[in-house]
Amino acid sequence: MASMSKIKFNNGLEIPILGLGTWKATPGEVEQTVKDAIDIGYRHFDGACIYLNEKEVGRAINSKIKEGVVSRQDLFITSKLWNTFHNPDVVEKACRASLKNLGLNYLDLYLIHFPFAYAEGDDLGPRDENGEIKFSDIDYTETWKGMENLVKLGLVKSIGVSNFNHKQLERLLSTASIIPVTNQVECHPYLSQVKLNEWMKQQNIVLTAYSPLGSPDRPTASLDEFNLLADERLLPFAIKYNKTPAQILIRYSLDRGFVVIPKTVRKCRLRENFEVFDFQISAEDIDMLNSFDCNGRLLKMIGFGHTHKYYPFDDEF
Ligand code: NDP
Repeated sequence: MASMSKIKFNNGLEIPILGLGTWKATPGEVEQTVKDAIDIGYRHFDGACIYLNEKEVGRAINSKIKEGVVSRQDLFITSKLWNTFHNPDVVEKACRASLKNLGLNYLDLYLIHFPFAYAEGDDLGPRDENGEIKFSDIDYTETWKGMENLVKLGLVKSIGVSNFNHKQLERLLSTASIIPVTNQVECHPYLSQVKLNEWMKQQNIVLTAYSPLGSPDRPTASLDEFNLLADERLLPFAIKYNKTPAQILIRYSLDRGFVVIPKTVRKCRLRENFEVFDFQISAEDIDMLNSFDCNGRLLKMIGFGHTHKYYPFDDEF
């Protein structure tokens, strides 16, 4: 089985560089997928409260632990704090709910999913009478205090953020007592994140690349023209390295020093996406792939946060 390299966080803990994404993996399919993934060698699973499949992910994990295939310490499990739970007083409750769903007693990593908050309550997508999302103006620096408390309580090993721009991270760092270990952001050749990564490297914050394949199953796929996996400009790379376009895209993130979390629910693709440890993309070819950048953000959260004062995607990086 291919060995899985790890990246060291600024707190000394390590994360396997390749993980399995679980957004859009339905509860009916994800349990078998996670079991297959563990058999293939995946040890890192990226989840979130809002993916509404943590129970099934947890069932798969616990059944593989019970079978003796892996131990809890072999695995790296991530979850994310949803926008309705940004009040520092409810962060612990939200984290404990994810832990309960997953059937675990600690998370390896917990992220603030977005810098902007929604109105608190049981409705994960609260809307007003006009159909607009009901926001909360809780400051993510306050939310972060709740996150830091989770580390003290031993409920999570590491904490980080997701979808933060560099100004928001900078602002967070000015009040944080624990530095986020990672910022999980959209990253692929159409949105290469060169500037954000350069800035984060200086702060010793790891970039985790989401939607590395261009998220062809994203809900808004029919509303724009982007189809990264089908981009013919990937073919010369696939031929040169004797790999598939998906493998080129995954390796592109790994060779830039990122953690990468492609999603699939198919066993053959789980294997394909894992067979990326026997080649490397040259620095010159990485530059070529970076030249595809067209500010091609695929997940803009239009209608889900773009009018909030902490909407992260209007800034340059
Ligand atoms: P990806 O870029 O990982 O693309 C997933 C899609 O690609 C699915 O349609 C999948 O289909 C298909 N696919 C997977 N492997 C292959 C392959 N080898 N060849 C062809 N098609 C393939 O998109 P995601 O947006 O899901 O991003 C990955 C993960 O990142 C998420 O699942 C989630 O965990 C995380 N994420 C985090 C966000 C955040 O806000 N923090 C936002 C978005 C994603 P199929 O499943 O049918 O194989």
